[in-house]
Amino acid sequence: MTALKELTLDVVKVRADFPILERKVHGYPLIYLDNAATSQTPRQVIATFDDYYRRYNANIHRGLHTLADEATAAYEGTRETVRAFLNARERREIVFTRGTTEAINLVANAWGRANLKAGDEVLVSLMEHHSNIVPWQLLAEQLGIVIKVIPVDERGVLDLDAYRDLFTERTRLVAVNHVSNAFGTINPVKELAGIAHAHDALILIDGAQAAPHEPIDVQDIDADFYAFSGHKVYGPTGAGALYGKAALLEAMPPWQGGGEMIKTVSFDTGTSFADIPHRFEAGTPAIAEVIALGKALEWVSGIGLELIGGWEQQLLAHATERLVAVDGLRILGTAPHKAGVISFVVDGAHSQDIGLLIDQLGVAIRTGHHCAQPLLTHFGVDATCRASFAAYNTPEEIDIFVDALERVIGMVR
Ligand code: PMP
Repeated sequence: MTALKELTLDVVKVRADFPILERKVHGYPLIYLDNAATSQTPRQVIATFDDYYRRYNANIHRGLHTLADEATAAYEGTRETVRAFLNARERREIVFTRGTTEAINLVANAWGRANLKAGDEVLVSLMEHHSNIVPWQLLAEQLGIVIKVIPVDERGVLDLDAYRDLFTERTRLVAVNHVSNAFGTINPVKELAGIAHAHDALILIDGAQAAPHEPIDVQDIDADFYAFSGHKVYGPTGAGALYGKAALLEAMPPWQGGGEMIKTVSFDTGTSFADIPHRFEAGTPAIAEVIALGKALEWVSGIGLELIGGWEQQLLAHATERLVAVDGLRILGTAPHKAGVISFVVDGAHSQDIGLLIDQLGVAIRTGHHCAQPLLTHFGVDATCRASFAAYNTPEEIDIFVDALERVIGMVR
């Protein structure tokens, strides 16, 4: 008989891994609900830095000494961890970057410049983060490509009919997020990929908000490119990854030149480039951060993303139920499939004021445009408050947050 899988997350055990949750803010216990911006870091990941700098700090790949070997092995070990995390076919399909932003810029600059010409079309959705809009706008200015925008309905759900209608024989790439950071909408990326491929277009998926919440399978999705950031998935800042299908990466020129990305350099015969993925990793990378990213993904996998995602769905349901009962509060983004993200505005209370005042009660939420100005403008607001959940949040914290919110609203109205 197979052992029964644990059905619910042991949140007390999870919380014990996060030293920061013990701190107080303005005399109140910290309630951290800004996880979509950056998640907190478990002690196992923090310890990785200590271990690296105490025992085997060295530059990778080019050393022949023990420390360099150990650092290289740990760095390359994370490549395998990321491969498994995304279910990529091969390790060489994983390129380390500083995060999602750099991964998207890599695709825009390496793939885009080699494959796009004036008049070619790139489809992005209205709910993209600026990091999946601006790189394409830069290419539009420089190469004359055309950006077309996939609309969303009043719930913040992509309009699939409109999406289908946007394709022409000039459509080369679809660049969409897996989960919206502003509204939490989970997009049907497998379906989007199928439609893109039926039109001979590629798909780049911004997985920054999906990686912390649900298992990702780039083969099942049939993603051509998939990007995520370590710091949103319990890892450090400064390390993330781009997945690219091997054949695509192999056909792409480098985008940054420097050490590590070459085979030979000569003033006479020119320079030949390293194989993938090293061709795209010029210079000394964030070695400790990449190693720590590996530890973070191991931590996540140790619990299981199904369990984490399921727990966050419970938190989302509880928070939604409490928030809709708050007088004058309106939730933006009511898609049937949402990750643990709630954006809201309150009649007669500016989001910025709410954010500042609720911080005085120890509650960290995010206020502003969430780097999704086109989406917010479309919904007629310039800012929202956003609460976003992680594995260590609890229903009790949500109750304290909503009570604090009601207090704050009473103060500003
Ligand atoms: N895309 C989405 C959907 C995001 O939420 C974010 C971060 N807020 C990014 C891209 C950019 O990620 P990073 O700043 O880590 O590069």
